Amino acid sequence: MPSSRTDTIVAIATAPGRGGIGVVRLSGPDAKPFIQGFVGRELTPRHACYAQFLDATGESLDAGIALWFPAPHSYTGEDVLELQGHGGSQVLRLILERCLELGARPAEPGEFSRRAFLNGKLDLAQAEAVADLIDAGSRQAARSALRTLRGDFSSRVNALKDALIHLRMLVEATLDFPEEDIDFLDKADAWGQLAGITQRLDAVLAAARQGALLREGLNVVLIGQPNVGKSSLLNRLAGFEAAIVTEIAGTTRDTVRESIQIEGVPLHVIDTAGLRDSDDQIERIGIERTWAAVEKADVAVLLVDAQHGVGKEEAGILQRLTDSPVLTVHNKIDLTGENARTQGDEVWLSARSGEGVDLLGRRLLELAGWQESGEGEFTARTRHLVALRQAHEHLRSASETGLQLEFFAEELRLAQQSLGGITGEFSADDLLGTIFSQFCIGK
Ligand code: GDP
Repeated sequence: MPSSRTDTIVAIATAPGRGGIGVVRLSGPDAKPFIQGFVGRELTPRHACYAQFLDATGESLDAGIALWFPAPHSYTGEDVLELQGHGGSQVLRLILERCLELGARPAEPGEFSRRAFLNGKLDLAQAEAVADLIDAGSRQAARSALRTLRGDFSSRVNALKDALIHLRMLVEATLDFPEEDIDFLDKADAWGQLAGITQRLDAVLAAARQGALLREGLNVVLIGQPNVGKSSLLNRLAGFEAAIVTEIAGTTRDTVRESIQIEGVPLHVIDTAGLRDSDDQIERIGIERTWAAVEKADVAVLLVDAQHGVGKEEAGILQRLTDSPVLTVHNKIDLTGENARTQGDEVWLSARSGEGVDLLGRRLLELAGWQESGEGEFTARTRHLVALRQAHEHLRSASETGLQLEFFAEELRLAQQSLGGITGEFSADDLLGTIFSQFCIGK
């Protein structure tokens, strides 16, 4: 991504395709030449002005609303001009090309938000929330992303950072002035402060974990013998026919992936080829893929026929699954007359009648650590969880440094640095590149 921020970027900000209105957005150090070139007169800042959008010869390309946000009161913190024309691909292309002719260049994905971040309009967690809000797959995820965008997550991280800075000041004062000794730290309750900060950090981590779950979801893999009802269960969960259901054992030879939502949490469910010894070459490849999918999954669901229970084959599968959490599902209770229920890591249900499928959904969420109470206070990403865990580790190490105050101070500094990475206080260019390149163009 070009590093210069003195140039003017432009992009079609609305989604491709036909629409009532299409928006071309432009940001740079000075929008006036573009305003002059497009509408031939001055615009009142932050007022919707109806205007003809003109080409180089003064001919109209389109007519619509022009909005001018002079710096620094704009999304990017630069001069921003928004042209709202008719939402057709050709007309928007004409407007875009005219902007290029007037000296702008096409924006890279996420470049508007990147500029907003670099100009201090958003911190990094908020900028990421912009993309998460756009990509949200459920209402809950959208609402949580909005809270992060509003700054709920960042303000909790910042409050932790402030508390750490306060504690560091105490410790470093002791280091700088040897006459201040350990008693001084005792009196200031430095250890109590550390415990308090750790406790608050853990609460933020728990909330962030929910937020990350809401954003990233849970990978669930369905495994079991052929014909136990894996495809039927997936269809029941997904609410439509995604995998082929037949009475011939071994029809699902490939893995089928379906994303569904339970309480707004995305579950990425993979239906797999039946795990049985097979001489069929293609089926064997499917079985290998199944094991590969199992290794990557957060939870494995082992399906058995309730009429037969866990047999030798399933016991063998369970033995191989020591690393991931497993739920054993006894399917086809409509044939055994049992009631739908759940007990420990086992669920009894019928994929055919649907009875007990809700119990399975709830158990899956529980295993993922989802707390029923909320929709997540804010969205978070794995990157944030890693940083929070690192900060936690540094605080733990700090608590173990005893009277070695230099180490204590250093661990506190590192914890603060980890937290600073969340909001982008310390962030490498390549991290920014990775984050913003995942945005859509025009955002
Ligand atoms: P898979 O090979 O494990 O994917 O199994 P399928 O989903 O293809 O199902 C195999 C057969 O079992 C089909 O005839 C299904 O209709 C049937 N089946 C699946 N679930 C149930 C159930 O809960 N009750 C009954 N009675 N039959 C089921």
